[in-house]
Amino acid sequence: MPNEIFRRQFLKAGVGFIGGAAGTVLLGDFSTVVLAQSSGVQDRWRFCRKCQAMFYNGYDHKGACAAGGSHEPAGFEFALPYGGSPTQNAQDNWRFCRKCQAMFFNGYPNKGACPAGGTHKAAGYNFVLPHDVPPTSTTQEEWRFCGKCQVMFYNGYDNTGACAAGGSHEGAGYNFVLPHYP
Ligand SMILES: [Zn+2]
Ligand SMILES: [Zn+2]
Ligand SMILES: [Zn+2]
Repeated sequence: MPNEIFRRQFLKAGVGFIGGAAGTVLLGDFSTVVLAQSSGVQDRWRFCRKCQAMFYNGYDHKGACAAGGSHEPAGFEFALPYGGSPTQNAQDNWRFCRKCQAMFFNGYPNKGACPAGGTHKAAGYNFVLPHDVPPTSTTQEEWRFCGKCQVMFYNGYDNTGACAAGGSHEGAGYNFVLPHYP
């Protein structure tokens, strides 16, 4: 497809898509926007042993947990990439919820039930998370999107963890393979 036609179709897709897709293949005018996006990794992301969601453990307050009280970290310390380009094996629009501190998918109009009340509210980086790639000694697979509450949760146990939408999380979509420290 000629670049100009591609760009027009892209523009028609809307500003929301452009704003949410850091580093998406952009042509012409948008190249400066892409270059201005910073990218990197943020650590201190942990598995919650109570609700099995991925949450940010870098604050004194740990965030409301769907299993009651606050999240409690266990296992690996994850270092998650943000600000890069989405690819066939990396999905963007994953965000920190400033209310419950979990990682949730912000790509739908409905933001998903939040254990802090109402729906999740995005803040901070646009994470671009790898999926459906072979696991290594410093990545863990079986992380999934919950089709009910929209958080990232660990699906590797028989019990899938308490869900803010009621019952337990239900895996949908990709098999995320998330990097952690050794
Ligand atoms: Zn929790
Ligand atoms: Zn939330
Ligand atoms: Zn859920």
